[in-house]
Amino acid sequence: MTSFLNHYIDGKKVFGSGSRFQDVYNPATGRVLAQLPLADTRELDQAVAAAKHAQTGWAAVTPLRRARIMNRFKGLLEENAEKLAELISLEHGKVHSDAMGEVTRGIEVVEFACGGPHLLKGEVTENIGTDIDSLSLRQPLGVVAGITPFNFPAMVPLWMFPVALVCGNTFILKPSERDPSAALFLAQLLSEAGLPDGVFNVVNGDKAVVDAILAHPDIEAVSFVGSTPIARYIYGTGCMNGKRVQALGGAKNHMVVMPDADLDKAADALMGAAYGAAGERCMAISVAVAVGDQVADALVERLAPRVRALEIGPGSDRSAEMGPLITAEHRDKVKSFVDLGVEEGASLVVDGRSFAMQVPGFEEGFFLGGSLFDHVTPEMRIYREEIFGPVLAIVRAASYEEAVSLINSHEYANGTAIFTRDGDAARKFSHEIQVGMVGVNVPIPVPMAFHSFGGWRNSLFGDHHMHGPEGVRFYTRLKTITSRWPTGIRAGADFVMPTME
Ligand code: NAD
Repeated sequence: MTSFLNHYIDGKKVFGSGSRFQDVYNPATGRVLAQLPLADTRELDQAVAAAKHAQTGWAAVTPLRRARIMNRFKGLLEENAEKLAELISLEHGKVHSDAMGEVTRGIEVVEFACGGPHLLKGEVTENIGTDIDSLSLRQPLGVVAGITPFNFPAMVPLWMFPVALVCGNTFILKPSERDPSAALFLAQLLSEAGLPDGVFNVVNGDKAVVDAILAHPDIEAVSFVGSTPIARYIYGTGCMNGKRVQALGGAKNHMVVMPDADLDKAADALMGAAYGAAGERCMAISVAVAVGDQVADALVERLAPRVRALEIGPGSDRSAEMGPLITAEHRDKVKSFVDLGVEEGASLVVDGRSFAMQVPGFEEGFFLGGSLFDHVTPEMRIYREEIFGPVLAIVRAASYEEAVSLINSHEYANGTAIFTRDGDAARKFSHEIQVGMVGVNVPIPVPMAFHSFGGWRNSLFGDHHMHGPEGVRFYTRLKTITSRWPTGIRAGADFVMPTME
């Protein structure tokens, strides 16, 4: 029997009145798990009306009380972490340990948001002019929206709404239509934590509801994470409609391996960073830049047998290292990139294409093996474009300068890393590289919750990165008050008992 998912509006499950539905799959079995209602403007209007109605009261709740609700939410997330991870694995396909990692990174943002009272403290200058004081404070924007991708169905929403809520905003989340259940579960936990109805709402859907969000006059700001073409569209349209927008896009993250690096450690790091979550991470390393042919040969020698031996299986198999891809179409697209790499003349050292349909009992799952290319060059499309799958490209650079110039000329600039034992090379790299997030002997330098996450160039459109102090700035408006109090009661009041004189 088909089961139906729902929206979550004003503290309740809402099934919607639309006639459009989309299948949600278990990518490990290839079978449909449920039907997702796709909202139209009616459900969005309902959610925005609830959020708008709730916002005044929510903004009046003291930051300390808002933070206490976040603290209860954090406790519930910890209690339900296993269940949330299972939901993520079921619809996304990533292995359980990876899903638990996602939940942990999400909880850390809630932990950050628990510091709301401190984060919202303003600035005061006493006597900015004679007898004049000035104070700057940050106030909530109102109703804000988040539109999120499939690859982190819990963590990316959690990058956004804990900070938005603790700042006094109300929130409409439009999760990915491929794996929406984690978001619905988060909404229930927020209600359980004591969040008033209407403060957090989930509206499921596709482009139609995204366009309605971008056009809605009562939505003040939009946070987006997804692919670059859509991020550019969201930023352009949202800004044109007068909204504040932060839109994070795609990536092609390079890891430079210097000749003095510990090559065993670099190969370990590349295995996790390139093939973890089947390469479906915006911070995945998809290009290893080996400085010198010797480094490249040594890396290929270490990586090839390990890529061939990757344990691939469903997320429910606790020994699996890599799960399936999100959909059959995406699996086929990644496969076609491997075909393309061969046509373009790169050396295919490990071919993951033949792995499809080899997991016993899961023959219909969207599995693909890991692929490794060597001798990839900057003109190739497999180098220029985001593949978002388990495919690692090795580019051979003759020098450190050539490696840096490759990275600085790429369209994407989300994350990058350098592996070296040389402090001077690491420091120079950190300072001169034109990328938003940099790792030194750290392959996936995802900033912790109390720092902010974001790339440069076509990996981010907008002025603010996500969570951390940048998140607080994004979800608040600055107000500066200058006040003078002419002498009144202190100088002119009469403290003598009034008489009838
Ligand atoms: P996507 O761009 O296809 O979808 C993201 C969101 O946009 C979804 O909610 C989807 O419903 C909506 N959407 C899709 N097409 C749309 C359209 N034509 N008009 C309006 N809305 C539309 O991305 P995805 O496939 O879900 O996620 C993978 C992408 O996200 C990759 O490119 C990855 O690099 C990127 N990503 C980036 C970051 C980052 O922090 N920079 C983090 C995670 C994922």
